[in-house]
Amino acid sequence: MSRVVIKVGSHVLTENGMIAKRRMLALVELITVLKSNGYEVILVSSGAVAAGYTKLPLDRKSVANRQALAAIGQPLLLKMYQEQFDIFDIFCSQVLLSADVFESEKPIAHAKVAIDTLLTNGVIPIINENDTVSIDELVFGDNDRLSAHVAHYFDANLLVILSDIDAFYDKDPNRYEDAQRRAVVTELLPEELEAEHTPNNEFATGGIVTKLLSADFLMKHNREMFLASGFDLSDVKSFLIDKVHQGGTLFT
Ligand code: ADP
Repeated sequence: MSRVVIKVGSHVLTENGMIAKRRMLALVELITVLKSNGYEVILVSSGAVAAGYTKLPLDRKSVANRQALAAIGQPLLLKMYQEQFDIFDIFCSQVLLSADVFESEKPIAHAKVAIDTLLTNGVIPIINENDTVSIDELVFGDNDRLSAHVAHYFDANLLVILSDIDAFYDKDPNRYEDAQRRAVVTELLPEELEAEHTPNNEFATGGIVTKLLSADFLMKHNREMFLASGFDLSDVKSFLIDKVHQGGTLFT
């Protein structure tokens, strides 16, 4: 049985500040198809703060407000997921993790037992960072790195990141028209991974660096990552189901 982690970001899951239900349904459909093709699927989903904001529009600049919005939004998000999974007679479940879980063996082992049990019973674990308890120095701050840890420690062969960008390019495609897609990446250069510290670097915009750090972590642990569009799921479908790599980037 092949285990995959799918990470979906808030850019994909929200539209005009609301949860984009049609995109959520497309994602749920994808997970259902993967499941019937023999995959065990763990989902790492953002969107709690956005979902909370639709009910109580607190100023999102304050950390305390974001924590409150996550607490309000997390059950709403899960309810929306369950409504969509109901269509396919599938149960989903909520697993909230904080970065410190991955710092010692015991909590990792406990969490893995729970995840394994859910998957054995055909239930989809939906993981998010536990924003209300995450302390500044411990937070991943982005689900890219959380999902890489989830893939490694819960023994998935592959992490799929569904992003607002359809692949990794040799430079930011939103800034450079002649950017070329990199289909397969086997090694990342230190300057690509440290782009955050060099503001003039062409890699420095957007959230690509956290994705590259995740890819680097997984490659070093003999696991793979696939970066593809979360708006159009045809590339990820063809890669995972038809085993045809037409679009997206494979880090291997
Ligand atoms: P998400 O929220 O979907 O996880 P982000 O917006 O955080 O995604 O990160 C993707 C963004 O990273 C892209 O929209 C793109 O503008 C930017 N980016 C910067 N450099 C690159 C690159 N070399 N290849 C692909 N995207 C890049």
